[in-house]
Amino acid sequence: MNKIVLQGICYDAKSSFLKGAALAPPAIRSQYHSKAFNYFAENGMEIIPDHLDDKGDFNPKQYFDIEKITLGNLNDNFPIITLGGDHSITYPVLRAIHSLRGKVNILHIDAHADLYDEFEGDRFSHACPFARILEEGLVHQLVQVGIRTMTSAQQKNADQYNVHVIQMSSYSLERIPSLVGPTYLSLDLDALDPAFAPGVSHYEPGGFSTRQILEIIQAIQSPLIGADIVEYNPTRDINDCTAVLGAKFLREISAKMLTSM
Ligand code: MN
Ligand code: MN
Repeated sequence: MNKIVLQGICYDAKSSFLKGAALAPPAIRSQYHSKAFNYFAENGMEIIPDHLDDKGDFNPKQYFDIEKITLGNLNDNFPIITLGGDHSITYPVLRAIHSLRGKVNILHIDAHADLYDEFEGDRFSHACPFARILEEGLVHQLVQVGIRTMTSAQQKNADQYNVHVIQMSSYSLERIPSLVGPTYLSLDLDALDPAFAPGVSHYEPGGFSTRQILEIIQAIQSPLIGADIVEYNPTRDINDCTAVLGAKFLREISAKMLTSM
């Protein structure tokens, strides 16, 4: 049976405004396995626990421990899904993936570009991971979708590295280019409108509906070798509804991975 490596990275030390994302992985996992739901994805595929090689949750002490933890869990087995954690985790996870598989494409769904050279003096802030990924050449093509907070400092990096930015204000599904080759999906839950995802640290109104994110996931044509779901903050959630959202995306991303393998 094809399996997906699943790891939880309980880490929010690089979150600039609020802590809480470190509590996310067990909360999403618990909704995934809740008796309130079944394991069927919308394509009719049942993502039973046996499909997931669940490595459990990890508490990195240092930032780059995330890379070592990911390498240990991957052990050359793909695909992998990481439950964050704040968005800073994506850079060390990508370093681990790059050392095993080389460059990938990244589809990054977020209200924010996360392209700052540094944020409040920290080059590894959750506002910076894609600047680090581009600098190090870990990516073929970076496509960002849903952005609605672009600053001039981040636009400069987007221009320098030819990032394909699809702003929320001009978004349509058809505008997302088809990516050729192994692809990584990075899903920041604040890409959704706060009405759909209240359990995040940074509310940015004017975002995606749940259905629009599902359409993006389901439309991916390239082999999906990795994904992360980040920035869920249980301390801001209402009746666990954002944890349930994370669990739904985990199910749909898994179905996409298993059908693209
Ligand atoms: Mn982000
Ligand atoms: Mn964000």
